[in-house]
Amino acid sequence: MLSLLPLLLSAATLSAPAPKSASALLEAPDRHVRTLDGRVQRLLATGVKRSPTFAALMASLNTSDVIVYIEPMQTLPNTLAGRLLLMPLNSQQRYLRVQVALAMNPDEMISIIAHELRHAIEIADAPDVRNETGLVKLYERIGRKSGLPHCYETQAAQDAARHVRRELVA
Ligand SMILES: [Zn+2]
Repeated sequence: MLSLLPLLLSAATLSAPAPKSASALLEAPDRHVRTLDGRVQRLLATGVKRSPTFAALMASLNTSDVIVYIEPMQTLPNTLAGRLLLMPLNSQQRYLRVQVALAMNPDEMISIIAHELRHAIEIADAPDVRNETGLVKLYERIGRKSGLPHCYETQAAQDAARHVRRELVA
C-alpha cells in the first residue's frame, strides 16, 4: 500500500453508466469491486439493490481499469470510518484497497463504502495516477486537505455518501 485518503461520509450525482445487472456487479468473476468478507458482500448487495447511486458507483468502476478490494477493519486510526489505499502496481491494472470500520449500522457502512468508491472513481478517472506521488498530485488538485497528514477530502465523495444514505432510508 502506498497512501491513504481520508474519510468520511457523505455524496453526488454520477453520470450513471448503462445499468448493469446486479449479478454482473456482485458475482461475476471479472467484477471490479470485490471482497473476501461475507458481511461486506451482503452490504454491497444491499447497496446495489436499494440505492441507484450505489449501483451506479459499482457499475462505473466495473468499466474502469481499477479493481477495488474492500476489507472490514475492527479499528481504523483516529476517527476514520473508511479509507482508501493504492496498492503497488505490477501490471496495467490498478488495484485499490478500501478499508471500512465495522460496528456501525449497515446503512452507515454502505454509505461509507459509497464514499470510498467515489474516491476510487476519482482515481479511475486519472489514468496517470500510478503511485503515491501521482495520487498526492491528483488530490492536491481535486481535493482539500482534511487536517490529517496525507489526508484529502472531496466534495464528490461526501455527496456520494449523502445521496446513498438518503436512498437507503427512502
Ligand atoms: Zn473521503
